[in-house]
Amino acid sequence: MDAPVDCVFCKIAAGEIPSLKVFDDATTFAFLDINPLADGHLLVIPRAHYAQLDEMPDDEVSRVTGHLPRLARAVVAATGAEGYNILQNNGAVSGQAVMHVHFHIIPRTGADGLGYRWNAGQYPTGRDRQMHEAIVSALQS
Ligand code: 5GP
Ligand code: ZN
Repeated sequence: MDAPVDCVFCKIAAGEIPSLKVFDDATTFAFLDINPLADGHLLVIPRAHYAQLDEMPDDEVSRVTGHLPRLARAVVAATGAEGYNILQNNGAVSGQAVMHVHFHIIPRTGADGLGYRWNAGQYPTGRDRQMHEAIVSALQS
């Protein structure tokens, strides 16, 4: 996909907008989120522009996500976090504000007050099997 001329993360990866970079290589760029949910909140992006994860070639996803464990260990070591969330939003409905694929690494502590609604439900009889069949079928097409 051609990069939109106004994509802020393309510009950050290209060094046209300053950022606090912690790591980069040929495919990946990692930097501090400018409005963190917690100290040390990182963003990890592909250098190339893709709006959503499902648009990325598998091998490029592997190269970018392959850095997540080491970056997460560094964030935990630097912040003393007790855990972390990896968050990756796709589409405005999911909360994605910047339409360039990015993985959040969000350090967590027990007292951080962060949270999200997890309104888990239950399948009515038969609905789970319908969903199972629909997704397996979609995978095969
Ligand atoms: P989203 O809601 O799209 O998953 O998250 C986008 C994230 O990008 C937000 O957490 C926001 O603070 C961060 N962000 C937006 N613009 C900039 C910027 O110019 N520089 C940096 N470092 N982070 C940004
Ligand atoms: Zn972009």
